[in-house]
Amino acid sequence: MRVNWRLINAARNSYAALFAACSLYGFNLRPVDNPLEDITCYSLNSLNEPSYRDEIREATCTTIVGGPHATACPQEVARYADYVVVGEGEFTLPRLLANLEDGREGPVPGVVTWDGALPADHAVRLDAFPPFSVMKGYIEISRGCPFGCTFCQTPRIFGSVMRHRSIDTIASFARRYRDVRLVSPNALAYGSDGRRPRLGKVEKLLSSLEGKVYFGTFPNEVRPEFVTGDALELIGRFCANTRIAFGIQSGSERVLGRIGRGHTVADGIRAVELCRDHGFTPVVDLMMGFPFETGEDEEATLDLIRWVVRAGHVRLHAFIPLPGTPLAGTSPRPASARAEHLLGRLALAGKLTGSWSDPAIRFSRPPDEGRLAFDRKCTGS
Ligand code: SF4
Repeated sequence: MRVNWRLINAARNSYAALFAACSLYGFNLRPVDNPLEDITCYSLNSLNEPSYRDEIREATCTTIVGGPHATACPQEVARYADYVVVGEGEFTLPRLLANLEDGREGPVPGVVTWDGALPADHAVRLDAFPPFSVMKGYIEISRGCPFGCTFCQTPRIFGSVMRHRSIDTIASFARRYRDVRLVSPNALAYGSDGRRPRLGKVEKLLSSLEGKVYFGTFPNEVRPEFVTGDALELIGRFCANTRIAFGIQSGSERVLGRIGRGHTVADGIRAVELCRDHGFTPVVDLMMGFPFETGEDEEATLDLIRWVVRAGHVRLHAFIPLPGTPLAGTSPRPASARAEHLLGRLALAGKLTGSWSDPAIRFSRPPDEGRLAFDRKCTGS
């Protein structure tokens, strides 16, 4: 049975992880740029899904679709795909492929079809699957997030319990890279329950890695309340990055409460100041256009942006009502003319990046500073 993987840039890291997982069960996911017999697999996010819908519907081969969008809207995707993998694919995908190869009918846990669905019966233990094999990818060190930010798909896909890959496994895969980039929803939560940091675990991890390690920056940004003097001292001692990236998301306390961030604006300000004091450039993720944002809230975010860019950098994103999140189906609020003017000026000065008016830009931009767009992490922490 020939099994293909539809190459999509945004899903490169998923390809690396699932290629490695399927290899364990004897399936080789061959890269293709259109659907081919016998089976073609896709991983789609909610921004690129419309571009592949017709291709999948018209495919003559068997199609399997997973990824953030399939997890958020499985019934919708099952209207045009043969099988929809919901949530984590490392165990479910090879299990489905084995069933198809053996001609076994009947539902597979974690898979939705036009005929019905069976809930997943497992959660992946990260050490049970390599992060990559011959198809290289970033090393995912942690999965799941106990916070429930209402705009974010991560806890809805991977659950609210944080799981971690062991230090030995991470170190052995890191040896294959000169520049080591790790994936986590919050790198400074490594080894913890995701709410109470365990810096001893972070220290053990960092001290076990060789090469140039990038920690607390893409693709393992951190939460602002995890940025402490001790954490920055550790990163400074062991890592190569000069930037620390974290999301504050809004300059308005009212908005932070509505989106369930679980931290305050003051936490964000303190994180920026600590970064500066320890010689790091703070890179702050912010969002605008929440449906309940008022002119006053927008002004509070603009004030925060003006302050951050004095010593740091802002990555600003237009709010997207992602499927599967509590804010799905809401309407983004357009930025005011005053905001557009200020943001344009800061962007021209190189102080601000991102897109505050066209969400698609954030998903389709070319690689930046060695970054690869990927769909394992939906938004910055
Ligand atoms: S934005 Fe970050 S902290 Fe919030 S739910 Fe998503 S991964 Fe967790």
